[in-house]
Amino acid sequence: METFIQIDHIEALLKHHFNPTESEVLSALNHAKEGKGLTYDEIAVLLNTEDEILLQQIFKTAGEIKDKIYGNRVVLFAPLYISDYCKNNCTYCGYKRDNIFPRRKLSREEIHQEVKVLEALGHKRLALEVGEDEDNCPFDYVLDAIDWIYEAGDIRRINVNIAATTVDNYKRLHGKKIGTYILFQETYHRPTYEKLHPQSLKGDYERQLYAHHRAMEGGIEDVGGGVLYGLYPNWKFEVLAQIMHNEDLERTSGVGFHTISIPRLKKAVGMELDQFEKGITDFEFKRIVTILRLALPYTGMILSTRETQEIRTDLIHHGISQVSAGSQTGVGSYSESQEDSQVTTQFEVSDDRSPIEVIKSLLKMDFLPSYCTACYRMGRTGDAFMEIVKAGRIGEMCHPNALMTLNEYCLQYGDDELRKLVDDFTQKELALIKNLVLKAKVTENIRLIKLGVKDLYV
Ligand code: SF4
Repeated sequence: METFIQIDHIEALLKHHFNPTESEVLSALNHAKEGKGLTYDEIAVLLNTEDEILLQQIFKTAGEIKDKIYGNRVVLFAPLYISDYCKNNCTYCGYKRDNIFPRRKLSREEIHQEVKVLEALGHKRLALEVGEDEDNCPFDYVLDAIDWIYEAGDIRRINVNIAATTVDNYKRLHGKKIGTYILFQETYHRPTYEKLHPQSLKGDYERQLYAHHRAMEGGIEDVGGGVLYGLYPNWKFEVLAQIMHNEDLERTSGVGFHTISIPRLKKAVGMELDQFEKGITDFEFKRIVTILRLALPYTGMILSTRETQEIRTDLIHHGISQVSAGSQTGVGSYSESQEDSQVTTQFEVSDDRSPIEVIKSLLKMDFLPSYCTACYRMGRTGDAFMEIVKAGRIGEMCHPNALMTLNEYCLQYGDDELRKLVDDFTQKELALIKNLVLKAKVTENIRLIKLGVKDLYV
């Protein structure tokens, strides 16, 4: 079946722009600086540039675009794995069915326990994760689990990463106050996709590829995608295919990806990295992140703890707008003692800093950590959100809201060092708010937050 991923077109673009001139690269960068995205030809030009000086200019421009559109905000979240049952056999995943280990799904009480630990770390935004197994982890269980998370305390947004499903199921999911529905295509290269997902439901390339379309048909307004970089060695192909996917969502549903996750293949139980042809180097990875940022300036870009502190720190300066922190990637892992844990994880974590350590580090680099969840509760989702971002109004809402959530976090979980950092940072950021009415409101809200009032936003 023909899809919107036009393999021949992508390969022709990469071939045609195989050795771009300096002026072609600079022309693409000048266009990128307008913050309106890039054409396919321009993306192919940037992907094929090997000139060291021009590559540094790509990195710099991506940082400038991120700063212009998102400011210094970095959104924080944590994954919550509630079931490791899976009937799929993705060759790269610790949860694949060929891996024999005691599998489980969390009960309501166990989910409450996990949420309590996550809340004690300060989290307000979670990404719910399950494998695919309709017998042992039915769709109704996932819907119930969302209720159990919300009822357990003060989690304010749940993004959901579950297998591709039907429009009817997406309608039911939409009814559960979720944030973004996230699903990775893993690889857009069909032969590779089919080889890496043998004899399984997930092995159906089209079922995966059109899942976001179905989710939007079911009423879900914010969808997130991603490639697992390293599965298919030609990362340039994957970047162009991801843009095609985004464009088709815009064409058919009126809005493209709300977020794009950028994971890179990591070692997992039952697989070795040398099973795969060729990994993605750190430098190639930076090229991927920065070119995606230039091509999709309004899309949130997510980096997980698969990456090291050094790489995450660098890429926050060049396009990444959301990071996970303090993550555990096993079922029940937050409430279990890590020394005694026998839990099989989906992949290995490379940045094991706690959220407070990540927050301090962000503040010291002049980034504003955010636990804001206001938009989806105010109905600022889908194309309504994108219109706000495109109009350059993100600073009127997201920045003040981030500042408020940072102060709320600090009051509840801060130590002396964090309190000093947050107080100094808050004064500096308040001074930068030009709208005097907004500034007065945020100042007053922060005063109230320091008195114990929670969940204030504009
Ligand atoms: S990637 Fe997802 S679907 Fe594939 S084996 Fe892992 S949990 Fe199952």
